[in-house]
Amino acid sequence: MSDNDTLEIMLKGIGASSGICIGKAYLVDKEGVNVVKKYSITEADLENEKNRFKTAVKKATDELHAIIEETPEDFQEHANILEIHLVLLRDKMLYGKALETIEKEWVNAEWALKKVVSKLQGMFKNMSEVYLRERAADIVHVSDHIMRNLVGAEHANIKDIDKRVILVADDLSPAETSQIQLEQIMGFVTDLGGATSHTGIIARTLEIPAVLGLDNATETISNDDVIIVDGTTGEVVIHPDEETLVKFVERRIKYEAHRAAIVRGGYLPANTADGITLQIMGNIGLPEEVVSVKNYGGDGIGLYRTEFQYLGHSRFPTEEQLFDKYRDVAEVMAPKPVTIRTLDINGDKAVARHSDPTEKNPALGLRGIRYCLKKTEVFKTQLRAILRAAAFGNIRILFPMISSLDEIIEAKKMLDQAAYSLEKEDAEFDKNIGIGVMIEVPSAVIMADVIACEADFFSIGTNDLIQYTLAVDRGNRHVSHLYQPLHPAIMRMLRRVSDVARDTGVKLFMCGEMAGNPVYVPILLGLGMDELSMNPRSIPAVKRVIRSLKTGETRDFVEDVLRETTSEGIMKLVWDAYGDILSNVQLAEAERGK
Ligand code: PEP
Ligand code: MG
Repeated sequence: MSDNDTLEIMLKGIGASSGICIGKAYLVDKEGVNVVKKYSITEADLENEKNRFKTAVKKATDELHAIIEETPEDFQEHANILEIHLVLLRDKMLYGKALETIEKEWVNAEWALKKVVSKLQGMFKNMSEVYLRERAADIVHVSDHIMRNLVGAEHANIKDIDKRVILVADDLSPAETSQIQLEQIMGFVTDLGGATSHTGIIARTLEIPAVLGLDNATETISNDDVIIVDGTTGEVVIHPDEETLVKFVERRIKYEAHRAAIVRGGYLPANTADGITLQIMGNIGLPEEVVSVKNYGGDGIGLYRTEFQYLGHSRFPTEEQLFDKYRDVAEVMAPKPVTIRTLDINGDKAVARHSDPTEKNPALGLRGIRYCLKKTEVFKTQLRAILRAAAFGNIRILFPMISSLDEIIEAKKMLDQAAYSLEKEDAEFDKNIGIGVMIEVPSAVIMADVIACEADFFSIGTNDLIQYTLAVDRGNRHVSHLYQPLHPAIMRMLRRVSDVARDTGVKLFMCGEMAGNPVYVPILLGLGMDELSMNPRSIPAVKRVIRSLKTGETRDFVEDVLRETTSEGIMKLVWDAYGDILSNVQLAEAERGK
């Protein structure tokens, strides 16, 4: 029993980022935002009320500008989201409609805002496109911000927290997560969100334990309550008694020692027990993430997602700006390879200005290579920057969303043209770089033998390949149970690509999320992958699993897997055959897939 004789309470949510922390809860205060009263105003007060709303929006705008300015470089992705929030603050549907409601209905600004937002939310929430659904969450964050200014509630200023605490919130907005000081925040607990939500991804990137999707954490936990968060199992304990505290402290010591041992092994090569070496690479979205790939023992960069330099800015980057970033990454990693993927804009990485809001199926629309082959100037600028950076390290190029032979031929033609233009200018560059094709569209799997003639390597993008093969939106939680990497159809797809790679001599890589989950490693090894690329933090655990496996055995195992007819059956086969090895690496519940 704790000091104040309060009973211990155990909650269960989604373990989204592994690790255990014990500390005092800090409730991110949203007081005053959710309880809004309606009152009428007189005609004489209409202007005043409208001005009160305008001032609250202006204040929110200034505050967002200030946060963006203070956002460190390696949080640029968040700054980009905040820029979208800035645009939303002035959106006709929100700003214009709220003012109109005050004017027409003679109601207070808070009520007008609440009315407009719940209507917008209803409209967006049920939309099937990820992009639009995400905008619904953005609208709520933006309106909460305005509302706090209207009701004069104190801002949950996470930046000003001056003690070590565990954040408890219904949800954390990008504006809030971007202010997190790692020295102060031990963990996250939220009512909303899941493993793939923004908060989950941030928690994993920051390596902070997190349990999300608890539904009622903010009601059950009070400020300063002592809580335990186990991000591996998804457990949260409020007012732990002595016995529970001891149990979790021991669990934490074990976890940390185990994790440290795994991380230490990250520098060892990924040699199988029968002497085959795989290259284990890191995925990055920002040049600064190179450090973590190096720290975790990555053998290179298997996927450099280049879209982040394009998102959320008022204009596209210049060749010089791109070249600077690419050269930095190439130089830091040299002589290890850096795989730069050309712009994969739109689809789930849509930005309002560059996507067509009337597009019904953005994932099937003008994205990736399709966009680049249409916007040839944008593409050429990037290709020239890549070729110039190649003179400073070991760069390869990777083309996304290839769905037919002509696209890769066309892309390579443009690469040749970019090289020719640099040659004419006597610029320093290197055109002898490896050329890769992302295999992430089912037609590319079917046409792999033909596409192989144009490629040095394939990199399988399972995130999209699963989405397109199973017709399951990768970001839609209502169908997330159908998003199954071990679906027999996916196994057959992977087998087909692996057979083609072996027969044609094209190197076989994988850079989708599947590559970084130890559970899938025995199958990927058996399929003959040469390289796996992943979130840097996963590198040590994947290497450790590989070191315990024998390639010959995994090849036979793949034959058994291919005979299975259900995802569950395949998952069972994996755990029956490799459970001992897999239990040896720490996995957050959400990653375990059982
Ligand atoms: C993929 O689709 O698997 C992939 C690696 O690309 P992205 O997640 O950027 O679409
Ligand atoms: Mg993809």
